Amino acid sequence: NTPSRHEVKIVDEERRGIDFNCDADLVGISCVTPQAPRAYEIADKFREKGVKVVLGGWHPSALPEEAKQHADAVVIGEAEETWPKLLKDLQENELKPFYKNNKPVDLRKIKTPRRELTGGVNLIGAVQTSRGCPMGCEFCGVSNSIYGKVFRMRPIEDVVEELQSIKQRQLWFYDPSLTINPRYTKELFRRMKELNKRFIAFGNIDVLSRDDELLKLAGEAGCRMWFIGLESLSQKVIDRLGKKSNKVENYASAIKKIHDYGIGVIGAFIFGFDEDTPDVFNYTTEMVYELAIDTPEFTILTPYPGTPLFERLEREARILTYDWSKYTEKGNVVFQPKNMTPSQLLEGTNKAIREVSSLSGFMKRTIYDKHFFVRNITQLLR
Ligand code: SF4
Repeated sequence: NTPSRHEVKIVDEERRGIDFNCDADLVGISCVTPQAPRAYEIADKFREKGVKVVLGGWHPSALPEEAKQHADAVVIGEAEETWPKLLKDLQENELKPFYKNNKPVDLRKIKTPRRELTGGVNLIGAVQTSRGCPMGCEFCGVSNSIYGKVFRMRPIEDVVEELQSIKQRQLWFYDPSLTINPRYTKELFRRMKELNKRFIAFGNIDVLSRDDELLKLAGEAGCRMWFIGLESLSQKVIDRLGKKSNKVENYASAIKKIHDYGIGVIGAFIFGFDEDTPDVFNYTTEMVYELAIDTPEFTILTPYPGTPLFERLEREARILTYDWSKYTEKGNVVFQPKNMTPSQLLEGTNKAIREVSSLSGFMKRTIYDKHFFVRNITQLLR
C-alpha cells in the first residue's frame, strides 16, 4: 500500500546484509518478539546516521512505548491504511509518534504483495486469504492482537488472481485458520482445482472432523497437510485456554477422517501449561504414535506480550526474563512453570522432539499407522 511515487527496497536480514550507508529517507522495520532486540539495534544504528525509522509488527504493536524509544514513529496494528498517511506526514515533516487504525483493515482494499521486491529464491510461496480468529486462546498472539478477533476475508477473485501470479507450486496459507468460514474456503478450493498448486494450511479440528465436503475439496485443490493446533491432550487445559474447537476425545477419529482423504496432519502441541507435570512429555510422545500424527510439532509455552497469558504470568510474578530474544518457543523457557522446573520443561521438550524426529520415532509411526509411509510419499510426489 505504498503510493507508487515512492521507491521501495525490501531487505530480509536472514538473506542479505543491511547497508547502513544507504540513502533511504525512511527505514521501516517490522518484527515479532524474538526479533525485537535486533530490530531495535538496527533502528538505533540508522537513527545515529540521521535516518528516520518506523517500527511496526506484532511486538511494537504490543509494546509501542518500548518500541518508540528506538523509532521516530511506531505503527500499531495493521499498517495498510495508516502507512500512506505516515508517508504523507513524513514528506510534510509532521511525523507523529504513533499511528493506529481505528478500525480493522478492510481486506477488499489491500493490494497484492510486490513479491519481486523480496529477492532471493523462495521454494514455497506464502499467501493470506483472511485475517483474525475469534477464538481468543490465552496464549495466541494472532487472536489477541489489535482487531485480531475480527475475522475478515479477501475477495476470492483477488486471492485466485494472486495465486495465479505466484510461480511456486508449493504454498503455505498463512491464515490463522482456513476453517473459520468453511463456505468461503470451499469456494476458494473449488477455484484452486485448476491451479495445480500443493499447499499446507492451518485449520481447526472440529470443522475438519465433520466436514467431508471441505476435506474432499481440499484434497482436490492440492492440500498436502493440515496444520492443526492440538495444543494438549488434557481437556482441562484446552477448556482453560478457551479453545472451543478442540475435544481431545475426538482427536483420533478426526485425524483418521483427514487421512481418509489422503491428507496428512501436522499436529502441534505446547508443553508447559499449568496442568502439565513431568510425565506430559512421554505421554504426549506415545500418543502422537497412537493418534497417527504424520508430523508432530512440539513447542514450549511462550507468553508473548499482548496476550492474556503474558498478563496473567506477569501478575503472578512468573516471568523469568524480559530478554525478548529468548521468546523463541524452542530452546528457552521464559516463565516459571507450575508443576516442574524450567530446566525440566526445556529438557523434556527437547527429548520429546528428539524422540519423534529419530529413526525409531519414524519407524514407530509406520508401525502404528500402516498407511503412514504410502500417504506421505504420495503427498511428497504429488
Ligand atoms: S484457534 Fe488458533 S488462531 Fe485462533 S485463537 Fe486459538 S490458537 Fe489462535
